[in-house]
Amino acid sequence: MQKNIASYFKSSKKGEDSNDQIKEQQFIEENLKKEKLIAELKVPSSKSKQLNPEVKGAVLFMDMAELYEQVGEIKGQNSKDAIKELVAKLFIRIMKENREEFVPAYLFSILKLGPDYESWELGIGQGIIVKSISAVSGKSEKQVRELMNTLGDLGLAIEKSKSTQTSLNKFFVSQTVKEEVKLTMIQVFNTLQQLQKQEGTGSSLEKERILTNLLRMAKPIEAKYIIRFIEKNLKIGAAEKTMQAALARAFQLYHKGNVEGDYESIINQALCECPNYKKIIDTLFSIQSLKEVPEICHIIPGVPCKPMLAKPMKSIQMIFQRFENMKFTCEYKYDGLRGQIHFENGQVSIFSRNLENMTQTYPDIVTYIHTHYQHLDGFIIDSEIVAYDVANNRILPFQTLTSRAKKNVDQNQIEVQVCLYIFDLLYLNRQSFLKETLEKRRSTLRDTFKEEEGKLKFATSRDSENFEEIEEFLLNSIKMGCEGLMIKTLEVNSQYEPAKRSFNWLKLKKDYLDNGLSDTFDLVPIGACYGTGKRKGFYGSYLLACYNEDMDQYETTCKIGTGFSDENLEKFFQFFQEYLIPHPLSEYKCDGVNMDVWFSPVVVWEIKSADIQISPIYSACSTILQLNNKGVGLRFPRLIKVREDKKPNEATSSQFLYDVYKQQAVVASNNTFEQDDDFY
Ligand code: AMP
Repeated sequence: MQKNIASYFKSSKKGEDSNDQIKEQQFIEENLKKEKLIAELKVPSSKSKQLNPEVKGAVLFMDMAELYEQVGEIKGQNSKDAIKELVAKLFIRIMKENREEFVPAYLFSILKLGPDYESWELGIGQGIIVKSISAVSGKSEKQVRELMNTLGDLGLAIEKSKSTQTSLNKFFVSQTVKEEVKLTMIQVFNTLQQLQKQEGTGSSLEKERILTNLLRMAKPIEAKYIIRFIEKNLKIGAAEKTMQAALARAFQLYHKGNVEGDYESIINQALCECPNYKKIIDTLFSIQSLKEVPEICHIIPGVPCKPMLAKPMKSIQMIFQRFENMKFTCEYKYDGLRGQIHFENGQVSIFSRNLENMTQTYPDIVTYIHTHYQHLDGFIIDSEIVAYDVANNRILPFQTLTSRAKKNVDQNQIEVQVCLYIFDLLYLNRQSFLKETLEKRRSTLRDTFKEEEGKLKFATSRDSENFEEIEEFLLNSIKMGCEGLMIKTLEVNSQYEPAKRSFNWLKLKKDYLDNGLSDTFDLVPIGACYGTGKRKGFYGSYLLACYNEDMDQYETTCKIGTGFSDENLEKFFQFFQEYLIPHPLSEYKCDGVNMDVWFSPVVVWEIKSADIQISPIYSACSTILQLNNKGVGLRFPRLIKVREDKKPNEATSSQFLYDVYKQQAVVASNNTFEQDDDFY
């Protein structure tokens, strides 16, 4: 029979002193309370059975699939806590019995095959999945697509097809695969890795073959989660953040109270400087004290650190309020792509804001660093990569930068030249600079690097506390083709805070001059209505959603019909034809909004809006607001651009939208607006 959490501790108490025993006893009692919480959950009785007790040699993939099933059924008020406890319970069992399989099990649960900065994209489109499902189920590709349209996702389509297979097909399958085969977690993970390694001619066919074999061996619910992994959404209402909380909880249990501290924040902090779960998990297995984690998992060249971000401000006055009696500097806010440049042992790597490795895209930067900075014993600098007109010595717009090829860039054929605008130093000569003041980081940066026109420049800055001077500097930044200003504390509270949208960095975009909200939002189009008149034949308006990281849900916040050129109307219409879905996904919180068509979440749009108000129609922030299901809606939204550098789950979070809503100067509690007041 499976051991419960408490029994693990009871069996390991021998030979320890009485103080420790009291501590453990308290720990056990606390955990028993948590177990009670799980027991009280409204999980259907058929699902609440014990997890597969046979895992001795290896973790069965069925255990993971059943866990996901159970998690997906947990609803209600304390659901996040309950999910955390439930997941932690399986995690700790794997940690104890199959330690070396824990990393794959965890990574699968957060939809990863490795760290984000190592390219491990599977590159499997719907076409291959449909063909594999068709081969496994005996259904035609057309039937598989129809099933997907009715059920809403390919995961459910394979689950259903496999559980209703004809006897003839079952007979065929049993000839190819041993009936009793039990998939293990490691087998699934290795096969996915094998899929990822296929490239070049013939790779599509090979991927289809490998996937088909895997699906043949899988039971219906296992197949469902394999497909959902490939489609990057397990649809269980628990995304990476929740899994991370479960990971922290599991390690707390694993250490039986002998290692004290706030596991969640230690893991979170370690991930900011070293976003490599394998390294963090291996470290957590080996430590005696949580203090060792930051000593082992810290910033290092070759591993991207999560970048520091800024809070939006509406006016120069607000900056003075925030930074009263503090020394600060204003820098141009360049409109390009964030580039974290790493160098060590002759190796240059360039990482994006999302920690993707962009080194291949910029061989010119790599050569430049090699030529000029070989002598340094390793560094990490933060910069903006900006398209640059070398003939006229001027900055070019962001759109020009995105037209540059991303892969197989031949250094001698580069059409779009770039200049690096460097603004921070994170690491130099084997030393982290994260805890230094910006004043120190900036002066070391200036002492170490040398400006060269059109190649490498320090971000233009002004250390001023004079209103008129800052205003003039802002106007100049716009004239020079920048987006506005970044304003940063220089001494007090000025350390580099990885991953934080910090109040120690503020941003002032030129749009604030229009008197609208100072910031833009990055939202995901999830549905649309057909246009009329001039827009006939295209979509006339789109429904946009922000992302609730806690709930793994997309929450609606406006309809938009402004800011589209004729060319974009057509382009977007064509683009979305590939991503039409018959019903809103279960993770769309969109009750009460009627649209003509719905899309999968595939793209992020930057949106500018005049105002945010409480809305009876939209669901954004409703869980935070707790106002009879009311949410917040953007008024008069208009499209600024497509955010090519963001994935849908990196869209503006509900929490951020709520923070901006709260920050607005005029927030009358009865500010509501009507259904159609929000667009055009
Ligand atoms: P946003 O994307 O609107 O949140 O603005 C933050 C982004 O501005 C950063 O991620 C950088 O890519 C970019 N940026 C441009 N100039 C600077 C600068 N001087 N300091 C920091 N970030 C900058």
